[in-house]
Amino acid sequence: MNRNRHIPSVEQLVAASHARHHVPHALIVAQARQLCADLRMSTAAIPEFSELVARLDVHITQLLTSSQRPVVNATGVLLQTNLGRAPLSVAAQQAMLANAAASSIEYDLDAGRRGERNQHVTPLLCHLTGAEAALVVNNNAAAILLILAAHAVGREVIVSRGQAVEIGGGFRIPDVLRQSGATLVEVGTTNRTYARDYAAAITPHTAMILTVHTSNFRLQGFVHEPAMGELSAVAREHGILHVDDVGSGTLLDVTRYGLTAEPLVQTRVAAGADIICFSGDKLLGGPQAGIIVGRADAIRPLATHPLMRAFRIDKTTMAALHATLRSYAHGTAITDIPIWQMITADADHLQQRAQRLAHDLGHPWQVRPCQSTVGGGSLPGETLPSWALVYPHPHPEHITALLRQQQPAVVARIADHAVWFDVRSVLPADDDRLGACLRTCLPLT
Ligand SMILES: *Cc1c(COP(=O)(O)O)cnc(C)c1O
Repeated sequence: MNRNRHIPSVEQLVAASHARHHVPHALIVAQARQLCADLRMSTAAIPEFSELVARLDVHITQLLTSSQRPVVNATGVLLQTNLGRAPLSVAAQQAMLANAAASSIEYDLDAGRRGERNQHVTPLLCHLTGAEAALVVNNNAAAILLILAAHAVGREVIVSRGQAVEIGGGFRIPDVLRQSGATLVEVGTTNRTYARDYAAAITPHTAMILTVHTSNFRLQGFVHEPAMGELSAVAREHGILHVDDVGSGTLLDVTRYGLTAEPLVQTRVAAGADIICFSGDKLLGGPQAGIIVGRADAIRPLATHPLMRAFRIDKTTMAALHATLRSYAHGTAITDIPIWQMITADADHLQQRAQRLAHDLGHPWQVRPCQSTVGGGSLPGETLPSWALVYPHPHPEHITALLRQQQPAVVARIADHAVWFDVRSVLPADDDRLGACLRTCLPLT
C-alpha cells in the first residue's frame, strides 16, 4: 500500500512527457493512466520519475509506430508466409496505389451505373486458364468454404484419405467441411486411392468429389491417386461436381526451371473439373486472393451466395491482381513478377550479386553456396541452388536481432555460427539498401 505513494500522478507524467508537443493530450493521458495502473498492480520497486517518463514515451511511440514494416527477405524461402508470401510486381504495386482512393471497383464507367466487382479480372482469368467463368475471393481458404457452402450444405463430399490434409495455419480439410455444413466421406487409403473408390462411395446424397493438392508434403513409394480426368468423368457420369483445389497452382510450368511439377491451372481446367481453385499469392505471384475458375453453371451459385459479400476482395487487391494477370497475358511474367524472377535466377548471377556485396563490405564477409526453397506450401522438399552472403559471428542471434530493427528490417538465417543472407530471395533492386544497412550495422561491436 505504502509503495503506491511513490507512483507519480497522471498529471505529473503527462506534463513531463516528451510527446506532449506532437501527440494529442488525450492519448498521452490514456497511456499515463495505463502506466500508473500497471505500476499499482505490480509488486516491483517503483522506478525513478525520469525512468517512468521514458517508459511512457516508449509506450506512446510503440502505439503510433506500425509493427508491420517493410522487410528484406534474405531467408532463402521465396514465398515466406510470415513475410507476406509473394512480393508484388512493380506494376501491381503501382496499380494498388493508383486505385487506393476512389476507384471504379463496382461501377461501370461506360454505362454510368453499378457494375460487377469481378468483371475487372474475369475475362483475363478465362483467357489465361481456358475456363468458361471465374470468380475471385479473399484467399483460397475462403474459396473452398464458398464452394462447399454453395454446393454441399447438408450433403456428402468425397475426399481421398490421402488428401484430408492440414494446409497450415490450422486450416484442415475435414474441419472446413464440417464448418460448411457438408459431410466428409473419406475413401481409399492414406497411400492409394482409385477412381473406383470414389465411384463406389457416391450416393443420392453426394454433392461432389473434392480433390485437394497435397501442397506441403509428398507421399512417396507405393502410392496411387487417379488422374484428374478420370475423376471428372466419374463425377459427370453420376451427375455430381468435381472440385479441384490445386493449392498454389501455377500458370507457368515449373518443371522448366528444374522443379517438380506443381499443378498447371490450364491443364487442370482442360482435365475437366467443374471448379478449380487456387491462391493469388503463391506461385501466381500476385496479391492475397482465392481464384475460382471453371464451368459457368457451377460458378454462378457462388457469385450469388450470401457469403460472397463477406469474401469479396478489396479495390487495391483487385487492381494488383489485374496487373499481375496482365503480365502473364503479355508473356512477361518471368521478367515482371518477383517470384518468377527469383525462381528463374541463374546461380552464376546470384553468385555475382553475393560477391559484389561481399566485396563492398570487406572483411569478414564471405560468399558461400546454399539452397533456397520455394515455400508458401508449394514444392515441399525441393531446393534451388543459390548463393549467400555470410557473416561469421560467435553470437549470430545478436546480429539477426539487430537487423530485424532496421528500416527496412532484414530477416536472415542462422547456420554454422554465421548469419546467412540468401540472395535468391532478395529482390535485385534491394541489393543496394541491403548493402547499406549491413555496412552501417556491422561489424557489431
Ligand atoms: C495454400 C493452400 C490453401 C489455402 O490457400 P490460402 O490462399 O492461403 O487461403 C488451400 N488449399 C491448398 C491445397 C493450399 O495449398
